Amino acid sequence: MIGNMKVGGFNFFNLAVLIAMVAALGACAYDAEEVTVRRHRIRYEPIYDESRCFIPKTQGEDVIVPAAEEIVTSPFFGKRYDRSILKGVLTASAVATGRYANDLLRGRVFRVPRDTVPGAVVCPMFTELPVAPDDLRELWDRFAGGARGGWRLAGLFFEDCGRDGFSCSDRELVRPTILIDEARDRWTLVHELMHFNFSRERKRDPRMPPLSSLAKEAERRKQAVRELFAAYKKTGPDRNVLAALQAHSSWLLREWFYHTMVHTVLEEVAVEGLLVDEFLSDRLQNVSPASLDIALMYMERSLERMLAEYDSRSIKGVEGAEDLSLRALRTFIYEEASKRNWKEIRSSVQGDIAFFSRWVSSTRNLIDSRRGRIYEYFRSNPFIRFSVETKRRAAVGHFEHSPEWRVFELWKD
Ligand SMILES: [Zn+2]
Repeated sequence: MIGNMKVGGFNFFNLAVLIAMVAALGACAYDAEEVTVRRHRIRYEPIYDESRCFIPKTQGEDVIVPAAEEIVTSPFFGKRYDRSILKGVLTASAVATGRYANDLLRGRVFRVPRDTVPGAVVCPMFTELPVAPDDLRELWDRFAGGARGGWRLAGLFFEDCGRDGFSCSDRELVRPTILIDEARDRWTLVHELMHFNFSRERKRDPRMPPLSSLAKEAERRKQAVRELFAAYKKTGPDRNVLAALQAHSSWLLREWFYHTMVHTVLEEVAVEGLLVDEFLSDRLQNVSPASLDIALMYMERSLERMLAEYDSRSIKGVEGAEDLSLRALRTFIYEEASKRNWKEIRSSVQGDIAFFSRWVSSTRNLIDSRRGRIYEYFRSNPFIRFSVETKRRAAVGHFEHSPEWRVFELWKD
């Protein structure tokens, strides 16, 4: 599947040297409340583009026959998706995947032409897709803009609603759209397609609270926190007021924060984890193993980002605590309840802490088990050219040392 290349006397799979970064935004192109745009930026490395050239865009099955829906629950946060869509593209070629995705999204999968960089070897994969129209190209440039240190936008998935007479909907995707850098590989397109897949099933699932109502309810509760917090400070310790604060704090964590993160930042873990599983089980083909590196970093950074969000998501304008983070609110309630021996409130806070810890550790386990399998893959394919990040970890002893690792020494920066 992968072409071999001879460099420095060694035969190795020509793989990417890259660093990936996830930036799943809780923001929207046109309507901040209802739509989520997800963007993926990949650090530009010429060799990364070159690695595409070893998998011709026509490699793989040319025809994808749409199959009957098969809704399944993934091991990632119980997120549901239509497995027939993923199955359809597993062994397809890049060209066929583009055509299939474009049919599924009713003609709304567009490519963004790659600027030529002197000396770079680029093999565009998606030249058969229509070029993004000007307004979407502007959107792309906006998200691509501000890229520092060579980060490059790889793909976007969003609902193009809230303009042109298309209202957003809680229960169905409206004008779902994918934009993709034409020189990215199939993995990226399948990744964006999985965002479509997860998003559609989330909206179809009546048990899932619509994100727009969660956002509205969150605003209402934040306002209540502001008032209760001020009252507590003003009139002195009051058990009922503290209990009410705790009820809001608990909801904000378990409903609003949880669902928002699982739909945005942690959806990256769900998508990449699923694709890693498919790849390592030899089901997902015609993609570069370089994507394993990206996937691992995507997943780790997403979890870090979720933890950072938890520390920084704040309730603005609380009297006496201008930016009250969810964590700070929880600490305040816990300390007050402990001081005054209000056991029920304290154990309710402890319940929230346990909920959060379970959530974080189960996410860590999901990532760790994939990390183990990815490292194992690298170990058994010693001539794979590792990314800078993988090499760094190897250098600091994240890997068990094995004879194969002598190979990587050659590429130490
Ligand atoms: Zn993504």
